Amino acid sequence: MEHRIDRIKKQLHAQSYKLTPQRAATVKVLLEREEDHLSAEEIYLLVKEKAPEIGLATVYRTLELLSELKIVDKINFGDGVSRYDLRKEGAEHFHHHLVCIECGSVEEIVEDLLEDVEKIIENDWGFQVKDHRLTFHGLCKQCQEAKVKTS
Ligand SMILES: [Zn+2]
Ligand SMILES: [Zn+2]
Repeated sequence: MEHRIDRIKKQLHAQSYKLTPQRAATVKVLLEREEDHLSAEEIYLLVKEKAPEIGLATVYRTLELLSELKIVDKINFGDGVSRYDLRKEGAEHFHHHLVCIECGSVEEIVEDLLEDVEKIIENDWGFQVKDHRLTFHGLCKQCQEAKVKTS
């Protein structure tokens, strides 16, 4: 954890930003809840537990800055809520998401899986792919099993 905060601190410094205590509190929450896909309000409530004096606007600005610097990715699973997701360390592409339409669970796929698709796009469209976002909507394992049991 310390080592990852340190890396983010360096990423900020490289762009002449400081890791202020407020920013550090926000980054800590993102690291602690890495598996989750939290909204700004949810992050704010967790940050407040560490730094009660912090305001929602500050947390918002920090999240915007972190997304500008590509430390976090802003995502939307189609429910109109922006969520913030820490980029995996050293990842060249943004991980994919499996969103269950029944229970709302979100799973992550870290493997790229899209090398072939990227090649086709680069060759046929002459478009240089830098990143992509992929969200699959469907039924998770648990929900499929629950359906089998009740039917
Ligand atoms: Zn994610
Ligand atoms: Zn489910």
